[in-house]
This record gives sequence, structure tokens and C-alpha cells, in this order.
Amino acid sequence: MTALYGIPVVILKEGTSRTQGRDALRNNIIAARALAEVLKTSLGPKGLDKMLVDSFGDITVTNDGASIVKEMEVQHPAAKLLVETAKAVDAEVGDGTTSAVVLAGSLLGKAEALLDQNIHPTIIIEGYKKAAAKSLEILDEIATKLDVGGIETPEGLAKVRPELVKVLYTTLASKYLATPDIIDRLIDMVISAAVVASERRGDGTYEVRLDNVKIEKKKGASMTDSQLVYGVVLDKEVVHPGMPKRVEKAKIALIDAPLEIEKPEITAKINITSPEQIRSFLDEEAKMLKDMVDKIVAVGANVVVCQKGIDDVAQHFLAKKGILAVRRVKRSDMEKLERATGGRIVTSIRDLTEKDLGYAELVEERKIGNDKMVFIEGCKNPKAVTILVRGANDMIIDEAERSLNDALHAMRNVLRDPKLIPGGAAPEIEIALRLKKYAESVGGKEQLAIQSFADALEEIAVVLASTSGMDTLDTLMELRKLHTEGKLYAGIDVMNGKVIENILSINVAEPVIVKKQIIKASTEAAAAVLKVDDIIAASPMKAGEGKGGKAGEGGEEERGKFDFE
Ligand code: ADP
Ligand code: MG
Repeated sequence: MTALYGIPVVILKEGTSRTQGRDALRNNIIAARALAEVLKTSLGPKGLDKMLVDSFGDITVTNDGASIVKEMEVQHPAAKLLVETAKAVDAEVGDGTTSAVVLAGSLLGKAEALLDQNIHPTIIIEGYKKAAAKSLEILDEIATKLDVGGIETPEGLAKVRPELVKVLYTTLASKYLATPDIIDRLIDMVISAAVVASERRGDGTYEVRLDNVKIEKKKGASMTDSQLVYGVVLDKEVVHPGMPKRVEKAKIALIDAPLEIEKPEITAKINITSPEQIRSFLDEEAKMLKDMVDKIVAVGANVVVCQKGIDDVAQHFLAKKGILAVRRVKRSDMEKLERATGGRIVTSIRDLTEKDLGYAELVEERKIGNDKMVFIEGCKNPKAVTILVRGANDMIIDEAERSLNDALHAMRNVLRDPKLIPGGAAPEIEIALRLKKYAESVGGKEQLAIQSFADALEEIAVVLASTSGMDTLDTLMELRKLHTEGKLYAGIDVMNGKVIENILSINVAEPVIVKKQIIKASTEAAAAVLKVDDIIAASPMKAGEGKGGKAGEGGEEERGKFDFE
């Protein structure tokens, strides 16, 4: 309810709650910081895992920030905003999510102190934006350039391989599955996969086309038995025992239509009065199926990959013609195959032509563990690869998949913007140092905001230090001292719990693009939270209303579930 010229005017629906001004802002800051608090302990290689149980009772154990925020059912709007930030960072660079949330949390924490000094949110936002822009410049100054030219040749790759290994090592070492032999195996596969899947751009950098890379998981054996396949692997078996298990020079029909007689949705009743009628009815069905198969044979296909089902009778006809077929293939795999084999997915068998067929040197069913899988190798587009991940249980295979994704993104990141920065909070401390000098040159109240931004960056060092059980204040002091002396690569060796003068000497390096993204996204998130001075929330829905899925998926229907206490 609000008053205009003394007359009360109702503009909000009954039951709507409203929090305004400082209270609203504080509420939001507290919620956002609470989320950051949760993620803090997961930062870095010694970060702890979170065990997340979703509403179906499925368990995820991970310390991957992106996965944590995706699984958490965050309800507060400001905390949700941070979740969105994390997802955006993940979508852009596939890494840095924990850092982005933690940094956004610290930025808001420092902002709170500034608010206490009666500094207006707009000034804080302005100061933060200036500080962020300056930080990006500083990052470019302290980054080292990589020469990625000619990476598709063995010599070209050999030149940068040691640097790439450092980056991948940094990404993978912070994961759950980290043992040296596994990491080496994964690194080898990731480098080869990324190089094969990449395309050279005009400016000499490369775009790793991640859609060319498929990760397929199969439980069993050990993770070191994982393999890189130059082609596409389908977690399917050949549908009929009479079919060939191996087809060379495969001409592949990609079909998104059932090789079945489609039964109408409505139940129709057919009155059959004699055995002949049954016969002719069945014959008619068989004939239709045979026609489908004849069509496939006529265009010259010897492999059928079907997104829908294949009827037993159709299987029989296909087998008789020596065609290898798989059914119920995922849409995403169909699309991968389309790109890999140069074929085209047809939605009606009638429309199938020779031109729609894809090509691969070899299609073969192989036994992997207790299951059979179909390998499609030597594809027309040689950029298609599959990493087949093995492992003792679902939990570690899933974590391996996440790690591989991170590693592939890391490759994409370095090849996009081939510059490396040290990890272990070295850049954060260096930027903080330089920002403090910069702040003086800006002056005024914004100076305070820029200084706070610098302090917030230092928090990353504090958090990393605490994950490895170091004294946080001592660590910070030592890092500041070393950086003041000009040692810009001085950072925290988290694994050994000590400060070292050159973090690159222990192979901890990251693509600069990730840090840039972290800074941009967390600044934006903090600014977005600081801009809000009014929270208007619909009254909570009654039980049973709305909300079908998990938080974050619901969008509109999530409204009203916000809890401001
Ligand atoms: P994020 O989700 O932000 O990527 P991570 O858990 O991957 O979070 O941690 C990344 C941080 O950990 C970075 O600041 C990185 O520099 C640091 N880091 C990773 N490995 C090491 C290491 N071996 N020693 C020191 N710092 C490391
Ligand atoms: Mg990471």
C-alpha cells in the first residue's frame, strides 16, 4: 500500500511483501555472501567436496563450483543472481565459477563496510567498475604470451605442449580424482582431442570446437584404461544378432523416424473375423516394413543409425541385407554423427537419398567391459573425437567427465587467447597492489571503492591459504611483501601449504581469459545486487501449487518462494 496526495492507493496484490532501502540491500548482501561462504571451502586444489542430494535422492559429490551451484536449490533472489553469474562464467569459459562467486561475495562484503561509512551504492558501483577495467589491463600486462601457431603439426605442438600441460595440470589437479597417472592419461587425451577438434582462425589463434568432442562414459576397468577414439562412440549395441558387427567403408543413414509401423495414438478397434484377415493384416505390416528397408538398401546404405525404434521384422530384413543397425540413439549423438560423417538426419525414410548418407571408414561393435558399444571411426570430418571414460564407479566417472570438460575448456581458453597467468593468487595480489596505487590517482570517494575492490581480490589469497591450513594473515603479509619487491609471480603453493616466489615453477598456470571472466562477472553481479533498493515479493504459494522441477529451472513459477528471513 502506498499513499498519493494522502489517498491510500493499493498497487500490490494482497499478501505481497515489500522490503525497501537499506534493509533490502542488506538482506540481499547477506544472502549473496551466505552463498559465497558455502563455496569458499571448495576453492582450489585443497578445496573440500560438497555432497549434494537432489529432490530425487541422487547424490553428487564434487568440489566443482559450477556443479555445486547447479545442484543447490538456492531460493533467495540475490543468491540466485550469484548462481546465474556462476552459470554465465561456466558457459563462457567453463571454469572459474567458484572464484567468481567467492569474489562477488567479498566485493559485497567490502561494499557493506562502505555503506556503513555512508558511501552511496552508485559510488561503490562506479569505483568497482573502474577497478575492474583497470584489473583487466593489469592482467594483460602480467600475462605471458604463448606461441600456438602450427599447433596442428607435431613440431608446432611440441613447442607449446609443456605450457599446455601446466594449464591442464592446474585444472585437473584440483579435482577429486587426482592421482598422477590418471592425470597424465587425461592430459594426453585432452591435448590430442582438442588439437584434432580445433579450427585455425584468421589471427593465428585456434577455436577448439567442443561440439566435435564427445565424452562417453562406461563403468568398469580403471580410469587409466580410458581411451581417445578418433570418431564417435555410441553406447548402443547392434540391434540384431544376424547383422554384421563390422562394416568397412560405411555409408550411414541417419534416420529420425521409427522403422516400425506407427500405431495411432487413439486405440482403434479392428474387428477380425477370420484367420485370413489376421494374416493379411500382418502381411500388410511386414510389407510396409520391407518397403522401408528396401528404400534404405536402394540408396546404398550399409549402416543405419536410428533415433527411434526398429521393429523386429524390420531388424530381420535389415540383417538379411547385411546392414548394421543401431536404434534409439540420442538426439545429441545423431547431431554429432551428422557433423562427423557429413550425413544428414532425415525425418522420413521416403525422403532418404544417397546424398544424405554419411561416411566412415569403419563402423564396428566392440565389447567394452560387460557391454557392447558401437565405434564409428575414420569419419568424413576427421575433427570428430570421443573420449571414452572408464572407472570403477559412477561417482568417479561423473567427476572425471566434469574434469575433462574443464580441461577441454581450458584448452579452448588458452588457444583462444594464448596468454597464461600464474595461479595460486599471484595475479590477485599483484592486481591488488597496483590497484591501490591506481586508487590514489583517482581520489575522492571512489578511491575507497577501488581500494575495497583490491581488498576483495586479496580475499582469494586468504581463502586459498585457509584451504591448505596456512595462517591467513601471515600468508597475506608475505605475499604483499614479495609483490612489493617486484616478484609478480609470487603465490601460494596450496598443495604444500607455503608461499613461493614463482608459482609457475610448480606448474600452476591458468589461461588469462578465465581470470578476466571472473573479474567481469563478479563485478557485474556485485553491481546488480548493490543497485537494488526495493524487494517486492509475491506471497508464497500454497503447498502443491507451482514448482515442478528444481530451483533455477522453474523460472517464473519460482516466484513467491523467496524467503527473506
Ligand atoms: P574455480 O571454480 O574458481 O575454477 P577451483 O577450485 O578450480 O575454482 O580453484 C581455482 C583456484 O585455485 C585458482 O585461483 C587457482 O590459481 C588455484 N589453484 C589451483 N591449483 C593450484 C595449486 N596447485 N596451487 C595453488 N593454487 C592453485
Ligand atoms: Mg577451476
